[in-house]
Amino acid sequence: MAVLQLGINLFNENGGLIAVLKFSLACGLLGLVGWTIVSPLLGAWVRAKQMYKIPCTNCRFFTNDYRLKCTMNPYAANTEAAIDCSDYMSD
Ligand code: SF4
Repeated sequence: MAVLQLGINLFNENGGLIAVLKFSLACGLLGLVGWTIVSPLLGAWVRAKQMYKIPCTNCRFFTNDYRLKCTMNPYAANTEAAIDCSDYMSD
């Protein structure tokens, strides 16, 4: 109780401290809202850059058939495992 009373007295006696705390809280909330908006966009950007590194659609062995996507590496075709595929051969 003494600590609570001390905190209440500090808040009541010092209006500047309250203003600083309000400003900090507002900045923190704005930062959280900004990060909530920016974070998924950054994640999507990084993911899209990674996906564009997959070379299969320009590869000679890519069949564009869902039953057998690639005649050389069917399990790796159109996945991140195909990014540095040693069997890649351009059309
Ligand atoms: S050979 Fe490699 S790069 Fe070509 S389609 Fe198959 S997995 Fe993709």
